[in-house]
Amino acid sequence: MDNVIGGSRASGARVNDILANDIPANDIPASDTQGDWPVLKPVRTGIRGRCPRCGQGHLFHGFLTLRDGCEVCGLSYAFADPADGPAFFVQCFGCVPVVIFALVLQVQADPPFWVHLVTSLPLALVTCVLPLRPLKGWLTCSQYFFKAGEGRLASD
Ligand SMILES: [Zn+2]
Repeated sequence: MDNVIGGSRASGARVNDILANDIPANDIPASDTQGDWPVLKPVRTGIRGRCPRCGQGHLFHGFLTLRDGCEVCGLSYAFADPADGPAFFVQCFGCVPVVIFALVLQVQADPPFWVHLVTSLPLALVTCVLPLRPLKGWLTCSQYFFKAGEGRLASD
């Protein structure tokens, strides 16, 4: 695994090895070049929607759209690609329990349709929409913190 870049937290010596092999600087994970910035936990910065490097700048432009970069420290968010990770967690821990709740409510109580409109539907919206932003922020900040990215060979 010595010739694989990305997917694990690189040491300073490994960064020097990367630089010595003439790999363009923009291919190095952003946090390898963070200098004297403090190490911030991805949970704390991500849930608040803050920059993973400085913890001050904003991560989002709108509800779920990532900014191009941090307005405070200038970190480019080009590394960020949480893909469908937030949706996966929302489906597992939000949608499935609500659907099970709705099914159990229907089977056990056989309520009129409007009961689902005032219970299951709002519950589904709250558990599926509200966690998306903090989850996306957490996953994005975790990508920066753990230098997650597509694995590739150093010879590429
Ligand atoms: Zn920043």
